[in-house]
Order: sequence, then C-alpha cells, then structure tokens
Amino acid sequence: MTEKTNFCVIGGDARGIFMAESLIKDGHNVKIYGYSQKKTGAKITPKKDIDLALDNSDFIILPVPVTRDGKTLNAPLFDSKIDLDDEFRKKLETKNIFCGGSGTLHNIGEKWKNLCLMDYSSREDFAILNAVPTAEGAIQIAMQECEGTIDSGNFLVVGFGRIGKILSKKLKNLGGKVSVSARSALDFAWIQTLGYEPLETNNLPEFLDYDVIFNTVPHRIFDRYNLLKCCEGVKIIDLASSPGGVDSDTADFLDIKVISATGLPGKFSPKTAGEIIKKTIYKMIKEEGLWKKSK
Ligand code: NAP
Repeated sequence: MTEKTNFCVIGGDARGIFMAESLIKDGHNVKIYGYSQKKTGAKITPKKDIDLALDNSDFIILPVPVTRDGKTLNAPLFDSKIDLDDEFRKKLETKNIFCGGSGTLHNIGEKWKNLCLMDYSSREDFAILNAVPTAEGAIQIAMQECEGTIDSGNFLVVGFGRIGKILSKKLKNLGGKVSVSARSALDFAWIQTLGYEPLETNNLPEFLDYDVIFNTVPHRIFDRYNLLKCCEGVKIIDLASSPGGVDSDTADFLDIKVISATGLPGKFSPKTAGEIIKKTIYKMIKEEGLWKKSK
C-alpha cells in the first residue's frame, strides 16, 4: 500500500506516460510536463507551464537518461526544449527527485550535485527487471532482421551479465541454438550447466558463423580482429550502451550489418518498462521512509 502523493513526471519517452497513468490508477495526483499531447495520445493533459506542474509536487520523476546532450532534458515527445540551465535547476532545488543516469546531470556542473537526486537506474533490482524488456526487444529486432525463425537459428550472446543471462534463456526457450561468451570461471560453469555452448569473450573462435551475434559487453569486443572472424551474412545486434561494443566503421567496410539497439525497453515495451520504473520508485520511497515525510 502507498499513501496518496503528488507526483510530477517531467520529460522522457512513452514510459513516462504509462508510468503517470499507472500512478493515477494507484490513486496518486499526477501532473506531467515536457510532453506534447498530440505526440503522446495520453489521457492525461500535459501542463503548459513548468511552475504549474511543479507546484505542490512531493516527488519529481525525471527520465532515464535525464539528458542525452548534457544541455537539455531528454524529452523526445515534447515539441519544445527544456534547457538544463540555472533557472531549471533552481526550480528543483527543494524537491525530492527521482531520475535515471544521474551522472549525466552531475557532469553538467558542481551545482547539479547539490540536488536531492535519487537514481532508480543505478539499482541492481531495476537493472535485472529492465533486462527482460531489453532481451525481448533484442529478439524482436532479430526476428525483423532474419529470414529464418528463432527456432532454427544459431546465435551467439556475448557477455553473461543481466541481459546476457535473460537473452540466452529466452533464445533457447524459443528453440534456438545458443552459444554464450563470458570471462569468469563461475560464468563458464553456469553457461555449461544451462546447456549453452561456452566461449571466451576475450578469445572468440576464428570463425563466427551465426545468424545473429548479440553483444551485451560495454567494451570494444568487435574490433577489426574479431570482425574479420565474422562469416558472411552474420548480423550483429549491439545492445551495449554508447559507444557500444562494435567498431562500426570497420564493420561497414567489411559489409557486416550492425544494428545499434539501445533504449529497447522504452521503444518496445514502454508499458512494462514504465511499470518497472514506478515500482522501483515506490521501493525507494519506502526504503527512505519518504511516504510520511512528504505528507
Ligand atoms: P552487466 O550485467 O554488467 O553485464 C555486462 C557483461 O559484460 C558481463 O558479462 C561482464 O563480464 C562483461 N564485460 C564487461 N566488460 C568486459 C570486458 N572488458 N571484457 C569482457 N567482458 C566484459 O550489464 P547488463 O545489465 O547486462 O547490460 C549490458 C549493457 O547493455 C550495458 O552497457 C547496459 O548499459 C546496456 N543496456 C542496454 C539496454 C538496451 O536497451 N540496449 C538496456 C539496458 C542496459 P563480468 O561479469 O565478468 O564483468
């Protein structure tokens, strides 16, 4: 059970809209800003004025990542821009703020570090739950890109972290042949026990003959050396956050198709992904004892 609270959701993609609607269903008062009604089709009407949106709000929810360019708030569904300037920062100064990728705000300058920022995306529970829509989105892209079924496909998942674990399981459950690469003895033991073909990420075989290689390692694994190992027709879906794990210029030169697939939860499963953010924020409010303090 949560106590009735005033939330203000500012910016973000469709996840923010689904989250706002879900907060309302839970009985909270919710205002949204940084969305254009015609782009969202939301039932809730965005406020035209940020001061009206912030007024009386106990909690502000900013998107993940808060900013992509370090200058404006990440608000792809807004016709205008929200500058991350001193004026905007001052409006947030006395508020409890939830956001994703808080480092992108901290990088703007020292003053931004004084805000009360609580980062939901840095939590392990959030990252694990978020790996499910990410893995499903990756499989959806593979289905669009490949002529064959997943059931008859041969896949390599590079990296056995949160996304690697969930993705390999889902591919196998759909009948695909799955190889998984890692670098620790513990991961090799799990990979073998779970019935995948184990490979070493830092010593991939000479011939990478797969329908799709999914990269989850946030490190340049697919440099020229490893790209030259890719057999004809291999497609690489790069899930790692920017700058990704593939030397795309060399891949282009070698005619290897690379799909840079970031932000999949927001693109393919915004409803579930918005719910994951909301539930993570509820947990954080409870852990910090903020339900009562906000009254
Ligand atoms: P994770 O749990 O940390 O897994 C990362 C994997 O990469 C681990 O297996 C790790 O091995 C391995 N690794 C890291 N550095 C390596 C190196 N130098 N050489 C070899 N292996 C290395 O991360 P995750 O949650 O699965 O996320 C993976 C990436 O996807 C991140 O960049 C994350 O930001 C991004 N992401 C993408 C989306 C999307 O929509 N595409 C959504 C969420 C997250 P060890 O365990 O041995 O360190």
